[in-house]
Amino acid sequence: MKKVLITGANKSIGFETARQLLQKGYFIYLGARDLDKGEEAVAKLKAEGFDNVEAIKIDVIDTASIAAARKQVTELDVLINNAGISGGVSVPQTTGNIDTSTIRTVFDTNFFGPINVIKAFIDLLKKSDEPRIVNVTSGLGSLTMHSDPNSKFYHIKSAAYGPSKTALNAYTVVLAYELKDANFKVNAVDPGYTATDFNHHSGPGSVEDAGKIIVKYATIGADGPNGKFFSNDADGETDEMAW
Ligand code: NAP
Repeated sequence: MKKVLITGANKSIGFETARQLLQKGYFIYLGARDLDKGEEAVAKLKAEGFDNVEAIKIDVIDTASIAAARKQVTELDVLINNAGISGGVSVPQTTGNIDTSTIRTVFDTNFFGPINVIKAFIDLLKKSDEPRIVNVTSGLGSLTMHSDPNSKFYHIKSAAYGPSKTALNAYTVVLAYELKDANFKVNAVDPGYTATDFNHHSGPGSVEDAGKIIVKYATIGADGPNGKFFSNDADGETDEMAW
């Protein structure tokens, strides 16, 4: 049975992704920075009839917490870096009204968090027959969309959140390149604007659709893409997004 670690999986998109992967027969390490919330989420899934799920405490901004989580996992096939924060995108997040410390805080979770988790778990992933990494990003990280006045994202600027996801995208490209001759698939996946606590449930998308695109790239076959950006908000016929 393939094993998956999802960070920030106690609720919202991460939780739904866990549920969909359980339906496909994967074992889930359900990551939560607050173990009580993780256990509650696991109890909910067990009540739905899913047994192959275990809560694991992991705070992506705390390297000791990541190291402790690493000790609890002995096998891993799929890593989904889902935990993320906005830094307050719902208020105008301009270069003028946001201070450097807030930008650092957002980068700590959205950029350095995934990097530290990848560094801690890459040795285990390398032992898998078909290792997969999904870095959960955002359309707001697309520089192409942000510089196109005709893009739906053109007027949705965020001085901390968008750049943190752009940086995560850039790291994804580097990592995918380094692992291109191994059996890895490393991709950045934007679940699309989704109704969750993240945006006070203002998004039009459902967690079901958000989970679906993450699961698609978490379970992609050997002939699947590596080092690409996919989004539920992509304009074209496919879900590939411009960086
Ligand atoms: P959410 O409802 O706010 O849930 C975020 C999850 O991340 C929660 O489980 C939260 O834990 C966890 N988290 C935050 N900081 C953490 C840390 N330091 N360590 C571990 N876990 C942490 O957000 P969501 O909408 O599900 O978003 C999930 C991902 O999708 C994020 O990366 C977000 O940027 C991305 N995304 C979301 C949208 C959208 O419209 N919702 C669009 C594009 C991309 P607590 O419960 O303890 O707070």
